[in-house]
Amino acid sequence: RTDSAGSGAASSAGMVRVRGAREHNLKNVDVDIPRDALVVFTGVSGSGKSSLAFGTLYAEAQRRYLESVSPYARRLFHQLAVPEVDSIDGLPPAVALQQQRGSPTTRSSVGSVTTLSNLLRMLYSRAGDYPSGQAMLYAESFSTNTAEGACPECHGLGRIYEVTEKSMVPNDSLTIRERAVAAWPTAWQGQNLRDILVTLGYNVDKPWRELPKEDRDWILFTDEQPTVPVYAGFTPAETRDALRRKLEPSYQGTFTGARRYVLSTFANSQSAMMKRRVAQFMLSTECPACHGKRLRPESLRVKFAGLDIAEISSLPMKRLEAMFRARVEDRPSSKTKADALHPEKAIVAQRIAQDILARLKVLLDLGLGYLSLERSTPTLSPGELQRLRLATQVHSNLFGVVYVLDEPSAGLHPADTDALLKALHRLKQSGNTLFVVEHELDVMRSADWLVDVGPGAGEKGGRILYSGPPEGLRDVAESQTRRYIFAEEHSAGRSPREPRGWLQLHGISLNNLEHLDAAIPLGVFTSVTGVSGSGKSSLISQALVNLVADRLGQKIEADEDDGAEDLERSAPLTAAGEIVSGLEGLRRMVRVDQKPIGRTPRSNMATYTGLFDHVRRLFAATKLARSRHYDAGQFSFNVVKGRCPTCSGEGSVCVELLFLPSVYAPCPTCHGARFNPKTLEIKYRDKDISQVLALTVDAALEFFSDEPAVQRSLKVLSDVGLGYLKLGQSATELSGGEAQRVKLATELQRTQHGDTLYILDEPTTGLHPSDVERLQAQLDSLVAAGNTVVVVEHDMQIVADSDWVIDMGPGAGDEGGEIIAVGPPAEVMRSKRSKTAHYLRQYFH
Ligand code: ADP
Ligand code: ADP
Ligand code: ZN
Ligand code: ZN
Repeated sequence: RTDSAGSGAASSAGMVRVRGAREHNLKNVDVDIPRDALVVFTGVSGSGKSSLAFGTLYAEAQRRYLESVSPYARRLFHQLAVPEVDSIDGLPPAVALQQQRGSPTTRSSVGSVTTLSNLLRMLYSRAGDYPSGQAMLYAESFSTNTAEGACPECHGLGRIYEVTEKSMVPNDSLTIRERAVAAWPTAWQGQNLRDILVTLGYNVDKPWRELPKEDRDWILFTDEQPTVPVYAGFTPAETRDALRRKLEPSYQGTFTGARRYVLSTFANSQSAMMKRRVAQFMLSTECPACHGKRLRPESLRVKFAGLDIAEISSLPMKRLEAMFRARVEDRPSSKTKADALHPEKAIVAQRIAQDILARLKVLLDLGLGYLSLERSTPTLSPGELQRLRLATQVHSNLFGVVYVLDEPSAGLHPADTDALLKALHRLKQSGNTLFVVEHELDVMRSADWLVDVGPGAGEKGGRILYSGPPEGLRDVAESQTRRYIFAEEHSAGRSPREPRGWLQLHGISLNNLEHLDAAIPLGVFTSVTGVSGSGKSSLISQALVNLVADRLGQKIEADEDDGAEDLERSAPLTAAGEIVSGLEGLRRMVRVDQKPIGRTPRSNMATYTGLFDHVRRLFAATKLARSRHYDAGQFSFNVVKGRCPTCSGEGSVCVELLFLPSVYAPCPTCHGARFNPKTLEIKYRDKDISQVLALTVDAALEFFSDEPAVQRSLKVLSDVGLGYLKLGQSATELSGGEAQRVKLATELQRTQHGDTLYILDEPTTGLHPSDVERLQAQLDSLVAAGNTVVVVEHDMQIVADSDWVIDMGPGAGDEGGEIIAVGPPAEVMRSKRSKTAHYLRQYFH
């Protein structure tokens, strides 16, 4: 049945009609989708689901909305974000609840995203218990972001930052010329400061520790900012001579002491990267005035249920809910003295408490009860953040809108999926439409309507295979989804492999883990399971990763996504605990995650995998290239000589927009070719370097068929299912699942020594069941080569096929943090306490 196709006027009522959609890989598709329904978009990773749901439907709704509000926005969006589609009729306004990787707005927390913090501030202001004699405070006085509320000592940061000689000059055997003052800026600005010191008569060639204390103190701590003549490129002796002879200086330079530089950059810089850089030269301690609570003393003296607002914000929402429920249900025990004295306050408290309670209920339903209101959003997983936004929407009282969601089941244990479905149904019941991109079979099965996109990925996808009620998909032979959604039998697990050793962890304390012991089997595949918030990531992605990195002397690459705001909020999270044994067998640790592999169009698949190095050498070896003395660097868009000067080899230019995130537009000179015309004259076979970057992996496999080095990399990329991607596909355009597979491919093409620990946090996010099978095969080949693989996972197929399972729980937050069951899956499924056991049993018969 394809009752949507070719629908006439009669059946088009209540439908969103899309005609001629061509965004990304979509093949000029027509599709009719019902409103006021739960519609799930399915298909393999890269098939075009997001291009349809987000790139076309949401983008168009967004564009119409912006057009209606602002002619200025209209101009911008005409140039920039018009989806490739002929027409869309019947489209309501849309709200996207997308999983955002990367830091959302600064200083946001669970409380601010859910607006619960506002309600609490109102509650404290209007119905709090004030010490006698203290005047009532406004709600703003309970906010750390306002002058009325912020602790005056730490300006609402909760920590005091300071710098010392040791923190700014980590190695005092270096001279100033050798960058002893590591805290100072690098590059030109650093050189400028050094030249100024030369003019001022300081010795920049003596080891730092041999300089007089007075000089060292002035350089580091002065607030003076003298402006002096600078003789760039002169030696100290030449500078002295020039000063004596009053020669014309290169320019006038202004000095800034190291402390002043660090503190003002940290306070004022717009760049998270700069903030992060200077933060490493600062020491921080808890603010002695507010003890990290970030509020003024008079605000902290106001209590509700015996707690100040900072204390109440640090409770898990589950605890908060119990508190407010007691209050709303009017149990005498929850009454305070103040209630009796001020009945009008009690009424206000009751009203606000009811509102808070209703909001908390939805959050608890969505399995988020273990979070506290003060928790900062950058420390949440993308799935948690999306569910938080979803819960907030359930309470927004909007109707007649389309919610577009991106895999809301991400991070959810199967035990929590029911609650998610309930929340989605509530939104629908209030008169809304839900467009959901999803891979979780239970969500697909409970949809009113399925839109299956495919059959393959990229070029091989982009068609609508089916659009209609789920049952009708049964007859669509081409659909990959059909195989899983109607599968009667789950495949049983295979017989587990024997570990070749154990990595013993002892006394792990972090987040909700308290003095936990755990053993990770080596040389096999382990799944770590448990409900959301039980402590899986704390144990694996935080504690294990940090401890192993520490012992192997491996640096964990700075997380690009963590905004500097984090640094302001909390001391670095280091796990207490140790590795007792088992490390002998490990030499390397690799995390394969879904984080983007780059932030700019400069990094792409070919560069990331190392494939491009081989290709550039092939170009440099051509006759014409040799006659012009071009080396491999000529064909790099990171090197000046060969690249397009306008866009510096990016192929696009960054357009800064007021109030909106900046966007990339094609380069007006090279039109995306990235190289200068001279470079493009060099051909390998019949293609220039830019045309080679435009080849898909599969096409390149043919093109380079007699180049084994290139073949090897290409083959792995094709094996992990990325044959449809272009070599030069910018890293910024890869989906999370695609980025993950590029990383895996990069690992798979290495020579395997069997000594690597691979750690993956929910690797199946964004993957269709058929992609999951493929991923599983790749991970198995790593284990077959002797490596150890540990995944944090909710996908029961993966768990059932593991060699070993570590199940955490029993609940979330305070109610979790324990290991509930361990062993091969066939054993764990017998556990009485484990919530995972029930779901695992379906895989064994
Ligand atoms: P899905 O959501 O089904 O995983 P997508 O809609 O994200 O698939 O991607 C469909 C195809 O479009 C893929 O080949 C992907 O690489 C490509 N694509 C996605 N985003 C962009 C983009 N911004 N620019 C160019 N191609 C893109
Ligand atoms: P899971 O991975 O099983 O979902 P987590 O390890 O993320 O669970 O969380 C376990 C507990 O630790 C939860 O109560 C969570 O709120 C808390 N937690 C996790 N990460 C942080 C963090 N960065 N800061 C504060 N608390 C955290
Ligand atoms: Zn303070
Ligand atoms: Zn250019």
